[in-house]
Amino acid sequence: MRGWLNSFRAFGKLNFLILRDRAGLAQIVVEDKEEAKRLSELQPGSILRIEGKSVASKQAGLGVEVIEPKIEVEVAITTPPAVEYYKPEIPSDLDFILDHRSISLRNQKLQAVFNIQAEMVHAYRLYMHDVVDAREYFGPNIIGASSEGGAEFFNVDYFGYTATLAQSSQLYKQIMVGVNERVFALMPFFRAEPSHTPRHLAEGKQFEFEMGFFEHWHEVLDVQEGCIKAILRHLEKHCKRELEVLGSKLVLCPDDVSIPRVTFKEAQEIFFKQTGIDERAEPDLSPAAERELCKYAHENHGTDLIIVTDWKKEKRPFYSFVSEEDPELTNTFDLLCAGTEITSGGQRCHTYETMVEGIRGKGMDPENFTDYLTIFQFGMPPHGGFGMGLERLTMTFLGLKNIREASLFPSDPKRIAGNRIKARIVFGGENIRNEIVRILNQNDVEFEHREHEPTPVTSEGAAKARGIALEDGVKAIILRGKKTKKNYQFNISAHLKVDMKAVTQAVGEKCEFEDPAVIEERFGLQVGAVPPFGPLLNLETFFDEGVLQRPFSAFNCGLRTESIIMKPQDLVRLVDSQTGKFSKE
Ligand code: ATP
Ligand code: MN
Repeated sequence: MRGWLNSFRAFGKLNFLILRDRAGLAQIVVEDKEEAKRLSELQPGSILRIEGKSVASKQAGLGVEVIEPKIEVEVAITTPPAVEYYKPEIPSDLDFILDHRSISLRNQKLQAVFNIQAEMVHAYRLYMHDVVDAREYFGPNIIGASSEGGAEFFNVDYFGYTATLAQSSQLYKQIMVGVNERVFALMPFFRAEPSHTPRHLAEGKQFEFEMGFFEHWHEVLDVQEGCIKAILRHLEKHCKRELEVLGSKLVLCPDDVSIPRVTFKEAQEIFFKQTGIDERAEPDLSPAAERELCKYAHENHGTDLIIVTDWKKEKRPFYSFVSEEDPELTNTFDLLCAGTEITSGGQRCHTYETMVEGIRGKGMDPENFTDYLTIFQFGMPPHGGFGMGLERLTMTFLGLKNIREASLFPSDPKRIAGNRIKARIVFGGENIRNEIVRILNQNDVEFEHREHEPTPVTSEGAAKARGIALEDGVKAIILRGKKTKKNYQFNISAHLKVDMKAVTQAVGEKCEFEDPAVIEERFGLQVGAVPPFGPLLNLETFFDEGVLQRPFSAFNCGLRTESIIMKPQDLVRLVDSQTGKFSKE
C-alpha cells in the first residue's frame, strides 16, 4: 500500500498506524519498538509505502488489518498541520476549515462530501444520456456585456472591451435545442450577489437541461423528477461508504412516490393553512414558506421534495411561456428540496412574436436582444427545461448547513476560491492606512492624521513620538487561539496590560500573543503599526471599555510614521467589535 500517514497511536506493545489512500483508511499494527519510535516522530501527511500481511479483524474499520509491516518512509513530514484534518471530525469552525482548505479537504468527511458530489454529476450524465437521450453541449462562460443589465453580473476586461461572466447558459441551451432537440450541460455560473446567506455562492456549477417537442410542458417536470430519483438511487448504490462516514441519510424520495406538484397559489394556501401566516398577497415564496412546504411534502407524501408551478409573470424572466389559462401566470416551476429551492425552470416562448412581447413586457428593448431573437425567426419548437444548482443539490441531499461545505473552493463576498479577500486586499501598511482614512472621511468623522518620527515598539515611546498622552494611546494586540489557531484583536489603552483570563472568557479558548513574523506575513504590518481596525484584517475584534473613558484615541494607522487621533466613541462605533473589560493595571 502507498498513502499518507493519517495518524499513529502508540500504546506501547500494540501500536496502530492509520494509512489514508483514495479508498479510505487502513489500519496497520506495529509491534516493533524501534519502528514505533521512528513512526511516532512523523507528522500526518508523511508518505509511506507499506508491505505486510492482511488479516481479518473485527476492530478495524474495514474488517481487515495489516500485520508484520515493512514500512518505507517516502516523504517524511515533521511539521504538524494547522488543521486537525486527521480526526474523524475537524474540531474547528467552518471559517477556519476554509482558511486551511487545501489540507482540510483531506479529512474523511469532507472527502466523502465531494466524492458524493462527483457521483451526482456522473449519475446526472448517465441519466441524461441513457434515459433522456439528450446531447451534452459546452457553452461559453465569457459572454458579451449583458443587455439585461443588472448588478448581479461580474464584468471582466476583455481586450479593452467589457465582457461578463455567464450567470446561466439559457440562450445557448435554447440555441442547442434548435440543433439537437434535447440537450444538457454542467456549466459554471457566476453571480455577483452581495448577500451573505448560507445558500448563495458567487461561483458554482449548474445542471442545465432543455428539451423541444412535448405535448404538455409537464414533461419537463417528468424529466426533472426522473433525474432526481436516478441520482438518489445511484448514490444509494455507489456511495454507501461515504454516507456511512458522514453518518447522514439522503433526502427522502422513494421511486414509488410521486413528487407532489402544487401551483404557486396552492402553495401559498398550504403555507397559510399550516402556519396561520398569511403571505397570500406576496408575489414570491418566503424562505419560511419554502421550508414549510417541504415539511408538508414529508408529512403528507413521504418525500422531502415538492414542485411549485404556475408562478406569477412579474417574478419570472421575460422568456417564460404565458399560461393559456391565466395571462398573469406562467408555465414555470421551482423544485424545493428539504426547505430550499434547488431548481427553476419551465416552458419558454417559442415564437418570435411572443418572445418580443415578453421582452417589451419587462420594459426592455428587443433591439438589444437581436442575437437571442434570431433562432425564433428560423423555427423553434415548443420547448422548456431547467437549471439546477450542483452545490444546492449537494447541500440539500446531504443535509449540510452551509453551501460552502458543498464547494471545494467557495467564492462569496468574503472569499475568492476559498481564500479570504479582505486580508489580501487590505494588506500592508499603506493600503490599510488608505482604507482607514477613507472610512473616516466617508462617515464624516472628526480626526487628525499626524505624521511623525517612527514610533518605537514601546507604548511610552509611541506616545512621545506622536506627542500625545500615554493613556490616550490605543494598543492593538493580535492574539492567537491555542485551540483553533484563529487570530483575535484586543484593543486597550496603551498604559494597561491585556487580561488573558478575560480574553479566554470572551473567545472561548486560551490565547497567546501572535508571532510578529506571522503578523508581518499575514497582514503586511509591523508590530507597533497595527491599527485597532481588526475587521479590515478579518479579525474578530474587542475593545476594552477603558478606551471609552479617555478624551482621545491615538493609534498608528498601519505605518510607524503615521498616527490617527480621534474620539473613542467614533472609533468603537465604526469598528465592528465587542466591548468589555479586557485590561488590568
Ligand atoms: P435564489 O432565489 O435561491 O437566489 P434564483 O432563483 O436566483 O435562486 P435561478 O436563476 O433560478 O436562481 O438559478 C437556478 C438554480 O441555480 C437555483 O435554483 C439554484 O439551485 C442555483 N443557484 C442560483 N443562484 C445561486 C447561487 N448564488 N449560489 C448557489 N446556487 C445558486
Ligand atoms: Mn430560481
